[in-house]
This record gives sequence, C-alpha cells and structure tokens, in this order.
Amino acid sequence: MKPDFTMRYYYVMTLYLADWRRSDRRGCPHTCRSDPLGQVLTKPALERDRNKGFPRVPETSSSPSLNNLEMSEGARSLLNAVVKHIRENVDPFTKEYLRVNETKPDRWSYTPRQIDLMEGAKRKARDAGLWNFFLPNAETGEGLSNLDYAYIAAELGKNPLASETLNCSAPDTGNMEVLERVGTPEQKERWLKPLLAGKIRSAFAMTEPDVASSDAKNISTTAVLDSGEWIINGEKFYISGAGDPRCKIMIVMVKTSPDAEPFRQQSQILVPVDTPGVEILGPMHVFGHDEAPHGHMHIRFTDVRVPEANILWGEGRGFEISQVRLGPGRIHHCMRSIGQAEKALDLMIERGLERVAFGRKIIDLGKNMETVSRARIEIEAMRLLVLKAARAMDVLGNKEARIWVSMIKAKVPETVCGIIDQAMQVHGAMGVSQWSPLSGMYAMQRTLRFADGPDEVHHHVIARNEVRTYQESNSRQDNAKAEFQVRPVGGFVG
Ligand SMILES: Cc1cc2nc3c(=O)[nH]c(=O)nc-3n(C[C@H](O)[C@H](O)[C@H](O)COP(=O)(O)OP(=O)(O)OC[C@H]3O[C@@H](n4cnc5c(N)ncnc54)[C@H](O)[C@@H]3O)c2cc1C
Repeated sequence: MKPDFTMRYYYVMTLYLADWRRSDRRGCPHTCRSDPLGQVLTKPALERDRNKGFPRVPETSSSPSLNNLEMSEGARSLLNAVVKHIRENVDPFTKEYLRVNETKPDRWSYTPRQIDLMEGAKRKARDAGLWNFFLPNAETGEGLSNLDYAYIAAELGKNPLASETLNCSAPDTGNMEVLERVGTPEQKERWLKPLLAGKIRSAFAMTEPDVASSDAKNISTTAVLDSGEWIINGEKFYISGAGDPRCKIMIVMVKTSPDAEPFRQQSQILVPVDTPGVEILGPMHVFGHDEAPHGHMHIRFTDVRVPEANILWGEGRGFEISQVRLGPGRIHHCMRSIGQAEKALDLMIERGLERVAFGRKIIDLGKNMETVSRARIEIEAMRLLVLKAARAMDVLGNKEARIWVSMIKAKVPETVCGIIDQAMQVHGAMGVSQWSPLSGMYAMQRTLRFADGPDEVHHHVIARNEVRTYQESNSRQDNAKAEFQVRPVGGFVG
C-alpha cells in the first residue's frame, strides 16, 4: 500500500461524495451548487459553508486529523518484526498443527506436540516484544493505537494461528480490554494477569437460543443477589472458545435489574468455567463443523453461584461495558478480515496461473482477470475504511466512533465473503475441499455477518445517523434562512 497516494485519493473522494450528495439533494448541477440562501458556492465557499454548520456529512468525516491514516514510525518496525515472526516461527508449523486437529483421538484437547509448537512460538514472540498489541494506550500492553494495530492485525489475518502466538486472539482480546478498563484490582489480579501472560483463555457469553440476541435488551439469563452471591440461571449458545480446555473464565451477560429502564437492566459477571452448575452441553456447528477444540459451545447455567464482587463495573452497566468491548472487538475482526481477503486473492492468482483449461491459463479465461482487479480494488477500499474507523476510535473515542465501526462491520465481512467465493470458483472443486483453506475462511467470514451484530443492525445504525444529521442540518438551514429574512425587518423598525 502507498499511504500518500491512497490517503489523498480517499480524502478527495470524501469531499467529492459529500459535495455530490449536497448538490443532489438541492437539485443543483454538480459543478455549480447553490447554498440554501441562493448563493452560488465556489470550492472555497464550500469549505466555509462546511464550517458554518450546513454540511450533510458530519464535520469529523473530513477533519484532517481523521484522515491521517499513516502508521507511526515506532509501529513500522514492529510490523516488520511481526511479518518476520509469522514467516519464520508460525508459517512453518501451521499445516502440521491444523492437520493434527483432524486426527487426534480427543478432539477437545491439544496434543503435546501442538502445545510444544504453540508455546514455542509464543515464547519467541514474547522474547521479541511482540505481545498484547491490541491494548491501545494501556500500561499492560504495547500501547499501540488502534490505527497502528490495524496494520498489524491485517498481517495476523493471513495465518489462522498468528494471532494466538502474539496473545492477540478473540475473544480474549475483548475480554482483556474490558478487564483492563473496568475491572477492580482484585479482578485484574485474578483474571487479567494470567490472560495477559497467555496462560489461560476466556469466553464471552451473551447469545441465547430462545431470544433474538441481536437486541441485547432481550437477554433473559437471570442473576439474583442472595447472601453476597449472584445466583445465575439461563442458557447460552455459540459461546466461542468455551470448548478450549484452557478456557477458565467467562464474562456472562445477565439480567440483574428487570425493573430498571431497558438499558440499565443488564450486567456482566465473571463466571469461572468450573463453577458448579455450569454445564457445557456440546458444540454448536458452523456449516457442519464443530470447530474443536476452540468450539462455539451451548452452555446451561443452573443455580450457578459466584461472589457478589464478580460483577463488572457495577449493577446495570452491561450495555456500557458492551460499548467498551464491541468497538475494539469488531474492528479487530475486520482488520484480520482484510488479511483474509489478501490471502484469498493470492490463492486465486496462484491457482489461476498454475492450471490450464481450453489451452489457456485459467486466470486468462472469461472475466477472471477482471475478478482479480475487482478484488484488489475492494481490498484497498476496505483497507481505507478500516484504517479510518481505527483512526476515528483513536481520535473520537470508542463511543463516538461507533458509526465508523458499524460501517466497517457492515461492509467488510460481506465483501470479503464475495472475494473468497470468487477464489473458490477459480479453484473448482478443490476450493471447497479439505485441501484448501478457502472453505474454512469463507465459513469464518460468513459468520461474521451476524456475530457481533447482524449486518442489518449496523446498516440501521448508519442510516439512522445519516437521517438525523440530514434533519439537523436542514433545521439549521431553516433557522439561518429565517434569520436572514428577519434582519431587514428589524433594521426598518430600528
Ligand atoms: C461462529 C459464531 C460465533 C459466535 N460467537 C459468539 C460468542 O462468542 N458469544 C456470544 O455471545 N455470541 C456469539 N455468537 C452469536 C452472535 O453474536 C449472534 O448470532 C448475533 O448477535 C445475532 O443474534 P441471533 O443469532 O439471536 O439473531 P437474531 O437476533 O435472532 O436475528 C436474526 C436476524 O434477524 C435480522 N435482524 C435482526 N435485527 C435486525 C434489524 N434491526 N433490522 C433488520 N433485520 C434485523 C437479521 O437478519 C438477523 O441475522 C456467535 C455466532 C456465530 C455464528
């Protein structure tokens, strides 16, 4: 990627689109626009107009600081070190490690050889200072900004084991970030410390089989306080990572205050996996695969008792914690997805160049070259959007950047699915086989279209913001018009 060119391109496109939408709404030709008071707006006038409160696009969209998508100098050497680490310490054993998963007798465990390989790579990463990158501006991690981490996470997405070797895998990253931001000293000592050291793993349990969980207000698992303990009852499913024998702690979303206002009814509570009453009923499948030993588990909680102090940040703050967690979690997925798209494109080209049909290389048949071109264009567009969302989180904060995060969440998995689908097509039957990583990559990207919130919910968030901004900007224009019309009258009377 060439940051200078792409940044300039994106900035120009943002201005172009913003102006085009304004002109479109006001029914004026693109090159000669009128403001609400009938003045012709030249380019400098458009800039002034943007600062007067008329713009359709939120001011922050075109703010130069949001458009500075360059990686910091310090992170550049880290990125090089990560690329080298993956090439030298992870790529060489990845195939062997994954193949063992298919043949070992106990699918919900790791073989001694797998443990040796993974722990060896983790040791090398830690010794090289490549550890816990995901915690932005934290004392406990490398303190990378979201923007810097975005560049690194895209590299991690190219190898399915890379994130774990750097202690940067989901769902631990989101859980660690929550513990780091809102945990008490005792909670940090007990759970954050071993997670940061890569000694244990964790899960996040929100989704329930019996309610539409994309609306978290529906969550029905209850937690009731009794003699200094929470008693938890309910059922969760698709709890990623809970099948891993190293998974020791879950953050569970529960309803603690059914009489409070809707967004204050939920809390998040730390539940050790081995607490009596926690029953892992079995794995949920993804396109027919149980994804052992990580797993997406179906779990029942029956009279599970944990200390009162296990609540995170206090009663009724479940939604607030989700805001801390979901921004980073979503953006990390999207960053890694860019890496997946790159990998799919590489595989598409490799296969297209090496196989021949009807006397020509497959890549030269039909519209396959155009498919390659379109994939590259989509990847670069997604990369810019993801970098901008990461930058927005750094500049505006997780809460204010949520529209940007929704944009990438609605855009990236869907588009990456399309690129992987094309790569499978170029591969023929092998594309969906166990000999190619593509089908697994596709399944992963497809599930991201509802995990962490379905596409539709994110589109709704973006569109609602657009409509609200439009209405607010229109009412400002009306006020300005009224002010303009009133002024001469005032002058006359005076
Ligand atoms: C592989 C995988 C891993 C997962 N890991 C976890 C995990 O670790 N922890 C966890 O808690 N959950 C996890 N989930 C669950 C995931 O987060 C939920 O599936 C998701 O939040 C949607 O909830 P739901 O399945 O109940 O869908 P529902 O809420 O029933 O929604 C179904 C559909 O309704 C439509 N819909 C919903 N809202 C709107 C709207 N506003 N506008 C238009 N249409 C709408 C959408 O098409 C949506 O897909 C995982 C899921 C998968 C597949």
